[in-house]
Amino acid sequence: MKKNAVDVAVVGAGLAGITCAQQLVQSGLQVVVVEKSRGLGGRLATRRLPETCADHGVRYLAAQGDLTAALIEKLVPQGILQPWSKAILRHSTSEQITEQKSELQPELYYAAPAGLTAVAKYLAADLEIWRSQRVQAINSTSAEWQLELEATDAEARSLAARSIVLAIPAPQALMLLEPLAQQGFSEVLIQQVRSVEFDPCLTVIATYVAEQQRELADLPWQAVQFVDSPELAWLSCESTKRSSPALTAVIAQSTAAFAAQQFEAPDLQTVGRQLLSRVTNLIPWLDQPIDLQVHRWRYAFVKRGLTDRCLATREPLPLVCSGDWCGGNQIEDALKSGLAAANQIQAWLGDQSAIDPVVQLAQLLQQLPN
Ligand SMILES: Cc1cc2nc3c(=O)[nH]c(=O)nc-3n(C[C@H](O)[C@H](O)[C@H](O)COP(=O)(O)OP(=O)(O)OC[C@H]3O[C@@H](n4cnc5c(N)ncnc54)[C@H](O)[C@@H]3O)c2cc1C
Repeated sequence: MKKNAVDVAVVGAGLAGITCAQQLVQSGLQVVVVEKSRGLGGRLATRRLPETCADHGVRYLAAQGDLTAALIEKLVPQGILQPWSKAILRHSTSEQITEQKSELQPELYYAAPAGLTAVAKYLAADLEIWRSQRVQAINSTSAEWQLELEATDAEARSLAARSIVLAIPAPQALMLLEPLAQQGFSEVLIQQVRSVEFDPCLTVIATYVAEQQRELADLPWQAVQFVDSPELAWLSCESTKRSSPALTAVIAQSTAAFAAQQFEAPDLQTVGRQLLSRVTNLIPWLDQPIDLQVHRWRYAFVKRGLTDRCLATREPLPLVCSGDWCGGNQIEDALKSGLAAANQIQAWLGDQSAIDPVVQLAQLLQQLPN
């Protein structure tokens, strides 16, 4: 068993955790990020498929605010992101409205040819990330936090830290925080975390032979947003994001209501086929994939979040909660919250006063490779 003590342990390698950790490392602190999955990016997720991939979490990147705009500006010249700019069809049961990108803002949507996790990998450059390690409990001693880790497919480790950033969905943070109530941890903070609610989502990842890609390429749209379907929220021709995909890949995402109903269904394959059969009016062969997987997102979208960009306490030891649920529900909010958490830790550990997040991200991006 390896023993380590660091300035900051960041729990979660989603966008909030990675951005926070990068800022802290650049300010000279010793940081370890602990992530329960093998991959980086959290809900910004890419499923590897035979010789291609599909984004089964975040659908695309758009300039939602200053930080996502700065990220896009940095990543397009490097080829990590490129415009995904045909059209998104807004589909309702009563009508069909096509929104051509050119009629809206130019270059509104961005995709990553290698999959959106490339964005997380870029932001995570040179960070020390312990993957496949789930934090199952945190305990305070008189001087430091002790993190109990459960290794899924790696060597089990233990970690001690002067401070902790929990950059994970609120319900998962709550599981770690509730047992601390007996150790003098802030009841007010626990109550705030408890008040946050998330909606679930089921994502279907379906593949078809490469030839069918030509039919998708001929469509006037590359994705569909369902306005009022009780079951489907989103359909995306994933292979239109790649240059010459070996397979045709499609993603279908359910509504929160459908996911809540079917989340524990024993046969998700049937549930996935049911979702695909709802869109055969748009693409007739969609319900006959050569392969089909269904991913369960238990905490997909923030249903009820908080207004604060992060939650912080120093009792019994420094701890900050961060994530999209702090101040919003999207990528822009995850980035802002990650930087706010880093500011808080830096202020406590004696480094600097808070600066404007746009300047902060610009400085952070400047340190990363071109
Ligand atoms: C299907 C889907 C589609 C979406 N589409 C969009 C979109 O198009 N645009 C948009 O702006 N947003 C979208 N979102 C929301 C977006 O993904 C989030 O707002 C954002 O990615 C949140 O980042 P985060 O860092 O706060 O959390 P997360 O990405 O959830 O990161 C948290 C990380 O913590 C890890 N973790 C959790 N518990 C532990 C533990 N105990 N120990 C160790 N690690 C742990 C998780 O594995 C995860 O990697 C979508 C989400 C989903 C699910």
